[in-house]
Amino acid sequence: NLSDKLNSVFKKLKGHGKLSEKNIDEGLREVRMALLEADAHYRVVKQLIADIRARAIGQEVLESLTPAQQVIKIVNEELTALMGSEKEALNLSGAMPQAVMLVGLQGSGKTTTAGKLAVHLRKNGKKPYLVPLDVYRPAAIDQLKKLGEQLSVPVFDSSPEMDPVEIAQKARQKAPSEGCDTLVLDTAGRLHVDSELMNELSRIQKAIEPSDVLLIADAMTGQDAVNMAESFDQALDLGGIVLTKMDGDARGGAALSIKAVTGKPVKFIGVGEKTNALEEFHPDRMASRILGMGDMLSFIEKAQDAVDEKKAADLEKKLRKNQFTLEDFRDQMTQVRKMGSLNDLIKMIPGANKSKQLNKLDVDERELVRIEAIINSMTPAERRNHNIVNGSRRKRIAKGSGTKVQDVNKLLKNYSQVLKMMKKFNKGGMRAMTRNMMP
Ligand code: GDP
Ligand code: MG
Repeated sequence: NLSDKLNSVFKKLKGHGKLSEKNIDEGLREVRMALLEADAHYRVVKQLIADIRARAIGQEVLESLTPAQQVIKIVNEELTALMGSEKEALNLSGAMPQAVMLVGLQGSGKTTTAGKLAVHLRKNGKKPYLVPLDVYRPAAIDQLKKLGEQLSVPVFDSSPEMDPVEIAQKARQKAPSEGCDTLVLDTAGRLHVDSELMNELSRIQKAIEPSDVLLIADAMTGQDAVNMAESFDQALDLGGIVLTKMDGDARGGAALSIKAVTGKPVKFIGVGEKTNALEEFHPDRMASRILGMGDMLSFIEKAQDAVDEKKAADLEKKLRKNQFTLEDFRDQMTQVRKMGSLNDLIKMIPGANKSKQLNKLDVDERELVRIEAIINSMTPAERRNHNIVNGSRRKRIAKGSGTKVQDVNKLLKNYSQVLKMMKKFNKGGMRAMTRNMMP
């Protein structure tokens, strides 16, 4: 990956002094290749390299960083700036009921994202109303209806005979009686951008005046997504972009260039087919991902904030001796909770994407409280050795913590998976990992 390559380029340059032009150019060649390989827009890459070069040349090598780390830091900062620096939220200003309109080509993930957004809105105290506007494909209406049922989100009963504008207006009138305050408009798509589609979308936009218009773009299509975004933006003046299928082998090129080319921010990324697989887009995290460091930079920052040194050292010792008990697991959860979403954190661990065990590991935030209760209901001996927790003990623990036996089972399974994963990291050297990644 890119950070490995940069490390090897700069390995020779030890200690102090200035970063030389020759050195930097050698490093930047790697950066350029990596970005083009990631399918970033060539114009964007050119500008970026020029900016990084200007900043890097003549810089004093900081005492705390190796030259490679210093260049990585600059590259990381420039990549972040290119993608917009700050996280951009959904625009929900204006009169009730509000509307978020989803547009994009067929198969880009509009309907799936409509469901995901409904979940997101509900989490943020909104009452979403799903509105199918793809009247050309009856199956598309059914798809959204099913999604709504599954999520217990009301879906407007669109009929294929109606005009999309009419449907949207009727849905808006009906929303209050359905207890809804935010429409999610799932529009029709085509295989290619065409004027008929744009006219229809534009009519809907004028009639409804949605507070946000999101282009749903398939990240796997790389530069095509960027070009398509330009066309949609010209016709509709987008509010933002959702890049879907970022869980696949999307190389990040679209994420990197789309803001620079269109001026419109990526607001969310889709990271799977399930309805919870939507994440807010963080430019800094994406930059680290493109650099190939997982989300290590933000992980390190957060870790430094939340975990105090001594506890971290204690933990490392325990990990090395494979003495990571359920009690440590509980404490670790509490620490981690201070740092943000547990699932986010797990993803930041380098290699976690590839780890089947970690992908299977499904930790719901709300479960943390329950997990704590369960572990607190165990005897010290049980916490030290989970292998003795048999059926009758599980029943007792469930009763004591006010949970179900299945909850206890799940916790023990998660714990033993973490244990396995940690043993693996131990072999690879937890310490080496930390040392390599520390900026
Ligand atoms: P639409 O035609 O734009 O409405 O697209 P759909 O919502 O029907 O999605 C097309 C396909 O892409 C479906 O098979 C979805 O499950 C899949 N899909 C959508 N978003 C994602 C994502 O973020 N990750 C993955 N892996 N698949 C996705
Ligand atoms: Mg659809």
